[in-house]
Amino acid sequence: MSTTFTVGDLTIHRVVESEAPLFDPLTFFPTLTRERLDENLSWLRPTFIDPVSGQLMLCIQSYVVRTKHHNILIDSCVGNHKERANYPFWNQMESDRYERNLAATGLTVDDIDYVMCTHMHVDHVGWNTRLDNGRWVPTFPKAKYVFADRELAFWTEKERNDPGKQPWIVDSVLPIVAAGRQEVVTSHHELSDVVRLIPTPGHTIDHFSVQIGKPGADAIIAGDMIHSPIQARYPELAMRADYDRQQSGVTRRALFDRICDTSTLLCTGHFPSPSTGRLTRWEDGFRFHTV
Ligand SMILES: [Zn+2]
Repeated sequence: MSTTFTVGDLTIHRVVESEAPLFDPLTFFPTLTRERLDENLSWLRPTFIDPVSGQLMLCIQSYVVRTKHHNILIDSCVGNHKERANYPFWNQMESDRYERNLAATGLTVDDIDYVMCTHMHVDHVGWNTRLDNGRWVPTFPKAKYVFADRELAFWTEKERNDPGKQPWIVDSVLPIVAAGRQEVVTSHHELSDVVRLIPTPGHTIDHFSVQIGKPGADAIIAGDMIHSPIQARYPELAMRADYDRQQSGVTRRALFDRICDTSTLLCTGHFPSPSTGRLTRWEDGFRFHTV
């Protein structure tokens, strides 16, 4: 399966860290009823829900966008050697899969000009840093790390008020700031004429997505504004970790209304491979067509 595709004259690589059944859908989506899940199993299985375990099939990955001028890595997964007591499946990972998949793109860590974190959850900041002689140092030494201002402020404050409860902030975000590698922007920031942020709040306080390309040949790197295509079918279906469940639904419906029945490619963070697709209407919601 190819993990490289193009959008207009941009090349995009998916760099996968892991892909496996992970969470029970009824726990993951607290307001999803057994009846509603059952009604949709015929199309969710086997791609989006593992028929054996009944769990959601989730991919953890970065998107690397190559423009004429920049290589931009969006979301940096879980990372290696990180103490994650509350996430046993991500605790002290020692996998070479992510680094091998990055190497397969033909790029090295030195080639990345920007790292963007759509938000600051544990599975989106990990490879920001790597362990070097007992210290956390930027994995991408030449990159500027693009953080949304209110997102960074929120998590910095949370860690200050409740130290040690957000270890991923301590080992994967604050060392970037200490090294002066951060570029703090608003979630409307335009990086260039083909790369701009769009605010997609709800999952976290200042979550952003990244729109790339030009009208008629564009894509949206969506981060965690959606986790499963059942949230396209039912845009108001919130995920358990959403900061503002009502807002996350408003955000999904607004963005999906805008891009449905267009050529805009939706590049999701966590859908199983190939993770990308387009939307059409489906009654009151939207149908995700894998592309
Ligand atoms: Zn995530």
